[in-house]
Amino acid sequence: MHDNVEYLRIQLACALRWAARLNLHESIANHFSVATSPDGREFLINPYGKHFSRIRASDLLLLDADDPASLDRPDAPDITAWALHSALHRNQPQARCILHTHSKYATTLACLKDSRLPPIEQNSMRFFERVAIDDGFDGMGLGEEAERVSRLLGDKPILLMGNHGLLVAAPSVAQAFDDLYYFERACEVYIMALATGRELRVASDEVARKTCRQWLDYPGFADKHFIALMGILDEEEPAYRQ
Ligand SMILES: [Zn+2]
Repeated sequence: MHDNVEYLRIQLACALRWAARLNLHESIANHFSVATSPDGREFLINPYGKHFSRIRASDLLLLDADDPASLDRPDAPDITAWALHSALHRNQPQARCILHTHSKYATTLACLKDSRLPPIEQNSMRFFERVAIDDGFDGMGLGEEAERVSRLLGDKPILLMGNHGLLVAAPSVAQAFDDLYYFERACEVYIMALATGRELRVASDEVARKTCRQWLDYPGFADKHFIALMGILDEEEPAYRQ
């Protein structure tokens, strides 16, 4: 059974526009995708050259991860987007929605020699023991590099890509966007805390684990967050649904 592709288009367009509103995007680069088939090999992705803030549901490309002919069209995705997302959807079919950004604070963390995010407040505790870190950056995400990166994620929702940026993988668009939002916030607070030069108030593993569990058990949070975001676009720029 396929998910409702038309609804996935609307959700992904909303996620792209909100990423632009929150300045999580970078020029016309970065890419978001969502799987439409059960094995994840068919997926929607943003087209190359179109700004996140102007994406409409109908602009999104429906591609096949096994078919390189997907690149033979005038609105083909960016080649690194194609390589990375097709490898991820092929190798991680449980990761239905994949968001890749170079958002400022997560990328700052990716530039540090130690890219771990310590549990210093509730948002960072949400990601305690849930972040994979890529220490092996080897140039732009093409070919073998895309395959290598796609295998690092494991069952984690976040891949912090050293020397590069951030990748979020989740079972739904709403969950992925919520994770992107909160991970970026957690990184921002951590970088601000480091900037004070003062000693950090790091929570114990036990408290971090308990707080993480409380986040994960919180009922319907990501869905409610995303519905609220769609509601704002419905009022202010309803063309995203077209
Ligand atoms: Zn990138």
